[in-house]
Amino acid sequence: MDLVTVKTFDSYFVANIILGRLHSEGIECYLKDETTVTMDPILTNAIGGIKLVVKKDDAATVQKILKKYDEEYLNAATCPQCGAHEFSYIAKPGVTNFLTAIITTLFGSYAVVPDYIYQCGKCGYESERLPETFIPEEDNQN
Ligand SMILES: [Zn+2]
Repeated sequence: MDLVTVKTFDSYFVANIILGRLHSEGIECYLKDETTVTMDPILTNAIGGIKLVVKKDDAATVQKILKKYDEEYLNAATCPQCGAHEFSYIAKPGVTNFLTAIITTLFGSYAVVPDYIYQCGKCGYESERLPETFIPEEDNQN
């Protein structure tokens, strides 16, 4: 049986949340190198983080599910400027990315990490952190 890595994490919290959600959807998967990264976080970059490993036959399905989770996460945020729920996570446009492209070409990937921002799809509001998530009325009451 062939196994493939479909996503990597530097946080075991997020990794385990995703793992639990996939298990609840009936997907067989496990986290590789979780113990190493958890015990010595400095090794995270050296070994490539915590890897979410699935059966090769499930990889496409899992990628779709992960994309759905990302969309749910982004759509839960409310734009403080216009109130829309249309955030996307994009590479920051500008000189940095031009240099990043050159340096990455010369030295291979991971030479420079580009800056990423959250951007509102409706009004263009940009933020380094995702604004507060939208909490429906009924959840606000005790
Ligand atoms: Zn907006």
